[in-house]
Amino acid sequence: MRQNMREPNNPTPKEWLSEDLSLKRIADYKPFNFVDGEGVRCSLYVSGCPFRCPGCYNVAAQDFRYGKPYTKELEDRIIKDLSQSYVQGLTFLGGEPFLNTQVCLSLCKRIRKEFGHTKDIWSWTGYSWEELLKDSDDKLEMLSLIDILVDGRFLLPKKDLTLQFRGSSNQRIIDVPKSLASGSVTIWDKLVK
Ligand code: SF4
Repeated sequence: MRQNMREPNNPTPKEWLSEDLSLKRIADYKPFNFVDGEGVRCSLYVSGCPFRCPGCYNVAAQDFRYGKPYTKELEDRIIKDLSQSYVQGLTFLGGEPFLNTQVCLSLCKRIRKEFGHTKDIWSWTGYSWEELLKDSDDKLEMLSLIDILVDGRFLLPKKDLTLQFRGSSNQRIIDVPKSLASGSVTIWDKLVK
């Protein structure tokens, strides 16, 4: 109970950098699922997240050492899985994808190279949209390559299990290309709740 009264950690801009923290490890890979975004998706769970939100759904993956190394063989398998016509796209979860940009950027670039925009890319993050815009170049580059961002820490006082694809009401499902083009946060147009 006491732990649940604690708040998530709040970094200053560029305080946490993937180049300092990431060990390029992944907690899990789940192909062909229906729960991590729209349509049939392949999900990559990266290891390491210093936000340490009380009530985090994946505490083990907060540790950057957790899981196993990301390999070229896994990347090839993900690309093969994504090539199935019924797969809509890839989802990054964690851990914190924006503190594992060596892994996520490599995969984003490969997806764009192999599939253009015929497959979409979703990412969860503990950063808010506004925080990411003030942060390091690798985070901004990753943002420029993804389609949908589910942003913000998980906040226990705002927990709501009825929300689409998110656990607390501060989190938003953001259309990234539209938001970058307009300069203000544009919510996913298929949001139901
Ligand atoms: S941001 Fe997400 S993965 Fe990171 S501690 Fe919070 S709930 Fe867990």
